[in-house]
Amino acid sequence: MGKSKVSIVKTDPQPDFPAIRQAVEKAINLIGGIEDLIKPGKKVLLNPSWVAPPTEPEKGCITQAEVTRAVADIVQEMGARAIIAESAAVGVDSEKVIEASGYGQLRESGYEVIDLKKTAKIMIPVPGWKVFKEIESHPLVREADVIVSLPKMKTHDQTEITCAIKKLKGLLSDQYKRMMHQEGLFEGVVDLLAAVQPQLTIVDAIYCQEGLGPVFGKPVEMDLILAGKDLVAVDAVCGRIMDFAPEEIQLTKIAAARGLGTHKTEEIAIVGEPLEKVRRRFLRSIEDSPVQVEGFNLIHGGITCTGCRNTVMSALVDMRNADQLMYLPGVTVVTGDPAIPPFVPTESIVTVGKCVPEGKRGQRYVRGCPPNNVYVVQAIIGEKGKAKRMYAEGDLDSTKQK
Ligand code: SF4
Repeated sequence: MGKSKVSIVKTDPQPDFPAIRQAVEKAINLIGGIEDLIKPGKKVLLNPSWVAPPTEPEKGCITQAEVTRAVADIVQEMGARAIIAESAAVGVDSEKVIEASGYGQLRESGYEVIDLKKTAKIMIPVPGWKVFKEIESHPLVREADVIVSLPKMKTHDQTEITCAIKKLKGLLSDQYKRMMHQEGLFEGVVDLLAAVQPQLTIVDAIYCQEGLGPVFGKPVEMDLILAGKDLVAVDAVCGRIMDFAPEEIQLTKIAAARGLGTHKTEEIAIVGEPLEKVRRRFLRSIEDSPVQVEGFNLIHGGITCTGCRNTVMSALVDMRNADQLMYLPGVTVVTGDPAIPPFVPTESIVTVGKCVPEGKRGQRYVRGCPPNNVYVVQAIIGEKGKAKRMYAEGDLDSTKQK
């Protein structure tokens, strides 16, 4: 079998639409074109990231509408039907993201732009499943002849990076997005990849995020477009651009082990810009501005992985952004299975994640692997108040942890 081809194309700084279109075309040509995938009359689901505001391109959070438009134009010029569809994170109103970004204008000018949250739900079986025998998604996902993942390139507070594979969570119902965190995020996301099997990815790495991505990270302008038909290989290359070793990225490691692509350097052919020329070390989420408050303690066990470490850190940043740090003094957050000093009052302890042994979970336990940040925030606040959901469509009661 030949190597998986991944193209890297450099655009102009702060590129306009013609420059983006040119870069997308070049990235596609460098991987040998897409005529094998996109045929006249076929239904092509373009799946950008609409995770949450901020929506401004230079914040590097959601897939820039111009990148999606360039891909949609190319698909339609090939005689296929391009449908732009996605759902934002749990608690985030996708329509607000559409309105605040260029996607609303695309819709007005005739592009099909669909908020999946408003569509029916169906179950899709997962071949070779590890966590989910089937996943809850939407009819469009099953009906599409081709699925194209259009991610941003970012570091992530739970999975080291987010790119072509992780962004597919936007194809799930909110219920299953939550369940991913509770039942096992890494194998669960790879189940999702196995179920929907996108045939192509084009990465918007123009403005990216480092540190506490996928929403609160620091913007980084990279001016890159990448393309490839093996999503695992593309994510591995994006990881290497951000200066992660292939073995540091759990999702690509697991996906490769399950035969869904390759993450091995020797099995990937990079075409276009040489990797060395575009590599830039991205701040890891764990290195981003920690929150320190007197009287608040955080104890990680030896077994605690980056999932819970980053989740707790991200929850603390959420609290800082929501002016809720006053709830921290007197609280001890525990992950994994550490020895807890005897002087720590039991009622002050918030335990996080399924690695905490059952006998140590106590009253304020947040289940999940890793759990969602907002539930960690709520457990810290307890009866004293409500976790604020940034950009939420409802309050926490409407998205209760299942
Ligand atoms: S529950 Fe355990 S395995 Fe899961 S993210 Fe937390 S520490 Fe890692």
